[in-house]
Amino acid sequence: NIDFAKASFKDFENIAGLDPYEWAHLWKEYVAFRSRAGMFNYRQENLSGCGPEIELDILGNGHRKFVSLVSNDYLGFTQHHKVKAAAIAGIEKFGSGAGASPAIGGHYSFHQDIEDKIAKFFKRDAAIVFTTGYTANSSSLQALLKKEDLAILDMAVHTSVYEGCLLTNVKTFPHNNLEALENVLKNTSGQYRTRFVVVDGVYSQDGDLAPLDKIVKLVKSYGAYLVVDDAHGTGVVGKTGRGVIEKFDLFKEVDIITGTFSKTFAHVGGYLVASEELVNYLKFQSRQHIFSATLSPASACILQAIDLVDSEPKWMEKLWDNIEYLKTGLQSLGLDVGPTSSAIIPVKIGDVDLNARICGMLLEAGIYANQINYPAVSKKDARIRMSVMATHTHVMLNRVLNAWEDVVKKTGIVQS
Ligand code: PMP
Repeated sequence: NIDFAKASFKDFENIAGLDPYEWAHLWKEYVAFRSRAGMFNYRQENLSGCGPEIELDILGNGHRKFVSLVSNDYLGFTQHHKVKAAAIAGIEKFGSGAGASPAIGGHYSFHQDIEDKIAKFFKRDAAIVFTTGYTANSSSLQALLKKEDLAILDMAVHTSVYEGCLLTNVKTFPHNNLEALENVLKNTSGQYRTRFVVVDGVYSQDGDLAPLDKIVKLVKSYGAYLVVDDAHGTGVVGKTGRGVIEKFDLFKEVDIITGTFSKTFAHVGGYLVASEELVNYLKFQSRQHIFSATLSPASACILQAIDLVDSEPKWMEKLWDNIEYLKTGLQSLGLDVGPTSSAIIPVKIGDVDLNARICGMLLEAGIYANQINYPAVSKKDARIRMSVMATHTHVMLNRVLNAWEDVVKKTGIVQS
């Protein structure tokens, strides 16, 4: 008995959150509610690309420039002349689309080159590409885990992992809680055909890392497989940008590495890196790979972006200089950025209404950052999430810090 005419944002969260199972049969009311609550403005129309400075038409003031903190283009490669030229060259050579799924005529030489290059990047034998990072997880896990198997998930893994596990048994453990992970491994020994533990390398909301060295030991000692999605760590973490796997030197130990071409690699698409047998199995068993068209020829630019991680290390250096600059600046204002060790910097706010207000204040000051609320994070854990890019300048980051200083003064969010 939801009174849609009166429900507030908080009622709405309390009644059903955004759980699609609760809302699926009420889709008209759901949309009416979101429109009334002014919640359609989350799809801001960007007129200029990933940034770091962009033009948006919001606040009813016509087009305005903003410092963007919403892009996962961590090294700024979407705007790199070599990457853009490679995308254009791909289209010139092969045309604008791939025209078929890999199984039936849509596997081109540049796809094979991308698979070879990304496997080599992670010092492994084989890789398979997908049209998104999302399906690299969802379609692969769906092909690998059935009702006789078990997926053991860190609670904070990406939603694409949960989707991939809809056909199998799932047990979760609290985020990065190794004792809880060990308990699940111990209590489920011998009960399932195959057990996969799935974790992220860098977590997308807190920007913190998985303690992968300890996780590997545990998982191996209980005879399970380990899958690591390092979508946010690749190109950011590790001496040469191979992510959390490089940081802990676990290239041989991790069974399956998944990731995306939509962040550091400046395009769109996803990959899974593993043994040749497992990759070949997926070529025949992943439904997305067989029944859905593959990456367009513009994706030839991914090859260039992968090369640039090694040939132009200055971008990673600039990124880390910017990360430290913004992080220490926010901390010196007394703001809580949590345990981040990556390019994702959240400012913890807590209350959802205050979070929305602060997001609006930042926009007024020309800063575009995302407000993250339930169900992406728990209900009391609303935050403003910022992603740092190598191509932000200190002038831009000073604008961000000045805006936050003003927010602190006006809202009193820091009690010191
Ligand atoms: N894994 C993680 C951890 C992610 O954060 C995301 C997307 N933000 C994905 C997978 C999906 O990648 P894509 O956007 O390329 O589909």
